Amino acid sequence: MKEIDYTLQRKEMVDWQIKGRGIHTTDILEVFMQIPRHIFVPEELRYQSYEDCPLPIGFDQTISQPYIVAYMTEALKPDKNKRVLEIGTGSGYQAAILSCLCKEVFSIEINASLGEQTKKLLKETGYSNINLKTGDGYKGWKEFAPFDMIIVTCAPSAVPEALLEQLAERGKMIIPIGSSYNQRLYLIEKINGQNKQTAMLHVRFVPMIHKN
Ligand code: SAH
Repeated sequence: MKEIDYTLQRKEMVDWQIKGRGIHTTDILEVFMQIPRHIFVPEELRYQSYEDCPLPIGFDQTISQPYIVAYMTEALKPDKNKRVLEIGTGSGYQAAILSCLCKEVFSIEINASLGEQTKKLLKETGYSNINLKTGDGYKGWKEFAPFDMIIVTCAPSAVPEALLEQLAERGKMIIPIGSSYNQRLYLIEKINGQNKQTAMLHVRFVPMIHKN
């Protein structure tokens, strides 16, 4: 089957949805232009992959809206010396974006089947600085802590204690907090051992689930 060229749709996504809403960091815009978002979306929905909305990826989960991925990425101020922990691998799109902007990505997915599927995709596409595991994000990933950045892409009702512990001094965490219908993103910065919390956008992520 002939591959469809989505370059134009991708450029429109970057120009209108991301740049047009105030994300101006050049490296970030470039990475959104480079990464083929459609490969992270099920084949039958690929024609919608550059639209201004989240999309279903199977397993009752979603890939986030492009702008939200960009907004959370920019809030972390990533750079090539930093290591990032992601909670909620999902499609792997956010992990792929971060992998081009950071030194190393560690990402945890609670759904084993989705985790396996994404692992395969990321391996095939050659993102070599992404480490994935199936597990419970509430526990973080202690062996590789502390992390310079933590990004949570599912919503707990309060900041998980283990994640605060695994955040490095001067580190930044971006996390949606709240119930299913009413969440807000918070930026947490650890400064002299204290957590400074800043309220940001209102959002709607899938809940961060507890494993029984
Ligand atoms: N970052 C993803 C979007 C994730 S959707 C992307 O770029 O596509 C949220 C994901 O969080 C889902 O895949 C869900 O299974 C996962 N999740 C929910 N609770 C979790 C938990 N406690 N630990 C790890 N992952 C969790």
